[in-house]
Amino acid sequence: MPIPSSSRSRGRRLHSRTDRRCALPVAFAISLVGCAAVATRDAAPTVQAALETAPVASRGDAADDAAIWVNPVDPAASVIIGTDKKRGLVLYRLDGTVVQSLPDGRMNNVDLRDGFALGERTVTVVAASDRDRDAIALYLLDPATQTLDGIGDGVLRTGLTRIYGLCMYAEHASGRQYVFVNDKDGRYQQHELEARPGGRIGTRLVREFRLARQPEGCAADDELGWLYVGEEDTGFYRLAAAPDAAVTLERVDRTGGGRLVADVEGITIYRRPGGEGYVIVSSQGDDAYAVYRRRPPNEYLGRFRIIDGVVDGVTSTDGLDATSQPLPAPFADGLLVVQDDRNTAPSDAQNFKLVPWSEVRRALGLER
Ligand code: CA
Ligand code: CA
Ligand code: CA
Ligand code: CA
Ligand code: CA
Repeated sequence: MPIPSSSRSRGRRLHSRTDRRCALPVAFAISLVGCAAVATRDAAPTVQAALETAPVASRGDAADDAAIWVNPVDPAASVIIGTDKKRGLVLYRLDGTVVQSLPDGRMNNVDLRDGFALGERTVTVVAASDRDRDAIALYLLDPATQTLDGIGDGVLRTGLTRIYGLCMYAEHASGRQYVFVNDKDGRYQQHELEARPGGRIGTRLVREFRLARQPEGCAADDELGWLYVGEEDTGFYRLAAAPDAAVTLERVDRTGGGRLVADVEGITIYRRPGGEGYVIVSSQGDDAYAVYRRRPPNEYLGRFRIIDGVVDGVTSTDGLDATSQPLPAPFADGLLVVQDDRNTAPSDAQNFKLVPWSEVRRALGLER
């Protein structure tokens, strides 16, 4: 059976790290395999996923990012929106079964916000970065059916040439909503969502800036007004999310210090009332997640891995999302959803794992 391409590239990356870190004198040479195990694995605490979603339809490296929508009327009828970056979006129930599959294009990242004023209605907007059209794909989430409706003209071209990461921001004071998108070349755009006649939504480009290296993951803190952006090679940064704010990047953490191993991938925020909570970052290169205090200066609190349990463990995560909202057991303290690069039985197509937040809290000794 041929080795999946994701496994091959994973092997290359492990060896390249090994080569760098294991430049020992010949007299002390040890096996590269043993060295790799030492060099790439710290003794981070471990947690287990409670369940997993159905696999995505596409083969190979296909699942990527997730967004959790908590149903305020019936939390049990909440949904997880996942991207299949070769095909489109997939909506899952909390038991991992599929609600809806939308083969709308190569959607890479996805995010959502409740509370957008559209004419007489207040709607939930879902945005995804569409790599087929270098565009922002917009949908409305119907709370009654927990499905997505495309918006007429809901594909908004950006002028970017290799669109990649995406996240949304709802400015707390004004209620205005924004979509951040980035290009593999480092360009970032901030678009404001605008209600248009006939129930349409348009966008207006309100700010542009640039990172030095390839970005992808990002997350905005609506209440505290920060945008967190990752540079896959180097670490992640904090800057003011407001469209008229100066672009001043403050480094939160960097690769190479033992807490983040490239690529720095998905970033999400576990929000508690009063500005409390945590920022969680995928340390893709060593199959771990780093956790920081939500409030700047974003003190580092620890890291963890997701190992085999009821379902298989998780490696090489791209996107992730978290909520602190109470959901049915075992997610009473909230939920962390992560993409899994190497799914095992009953399918080897990629999927998403659902981790009870209580597991993470226990593993790292976090307060609520
Ligand atoms: Ca991947
Ligand atoms: Ca997301
Ligand atoms: Ca990436
Ligand atoms: Ca796995
Ligand atoms: Ca599995």
